[in-house]
Amino acid sequence: MGESRRFAIAATPDGVSGHNSVLVRMALPGQYVDLSAHVLTSYIILMSLGSDNASFEALLSAVRACRVCEAHLPLGPRPILQASATARILVVGQAPGARVHRSGIPWDDPSGERLRAWMGVSKDEFYDASRVAIIPMGYCYPGRGNGGDLPPRRECAQLWLGKLLARLPRIESTLLIGQHAQRHFLGKRRQRTLTQTVGAWRDYAPRYFPLPHPSPRNTPWLQRNAGFERGLLPTLRVHVNTLLARR
Ligand code: SF4
Repeated sequence: MGESRRFAIAATPDGVSGHNSVLVRMALPGQYVDLSAHVLTSYIILMSLGSDNASFEALLSAVRACRVCEAHLPLGPRPILQASATARILVVGQAPGARVHRSGIPWDDPSGERLRAWMGVSKDEFYDASRVAIIPMGYCYPGRGNGGDLPPRRECAQLWLGKLLARLPRIESTLLIGQHAQRHFLGKRRQRTLTQTVGAWRDYAPRYFPLPHPSPRNTPWLQRNAGFERGLLPTLRVHVNTLLARR
């Protein structure tokens, strides 16, 4: 099916309310998503955003109202991101964890503490949307599987990421945290493993900085790859602070 998307809309009985509603079957690459009437708002806004005149705020409102994967999200939809057209730094992580889902604040956890230390920024700087955009590969908490949190929902990138990036013209550096972000942004330039991709950071910087996840669970990786802290992080800090100082 490639990247094409098809919408089929039909009136159907609403099993909950007994009123007629609309069922949308949306074909995305490799999967189908059924949407009932109450999730249509985001799609209506999404389709209207084909115009370049649509404001960034309208787009962010549409993303924050998104409920496309509601049936698959154990804690329900709560898209968590921050962005502004003036941001020069973009942070792309995986997906919110349960704690961030509860607070609604991106990277509001021990992983965020470590990430800010890696970047050499304060909380005020990190949460200044006019300077730092934070857009994970999945915007809602995806739930847990046997090996920890599930991967980010693919629908976010398929529906929203391109539209968001198109409205971030000043981004000069993007931090790619984890394999999902690295796969999406680096494509074939990515190395065979995350460790190798992070090790080859000079091939991508300063446009991209590939990073491991800063989760405390990743401490053994950091201990095995001490060169990461000695080599990549000092360069990242200098670059981030240069961009933060530029208004
Ligand atoms: S995970 Fe992404 S696509 Fe799914 S409901 Fe949340 S914002 Fe929408």
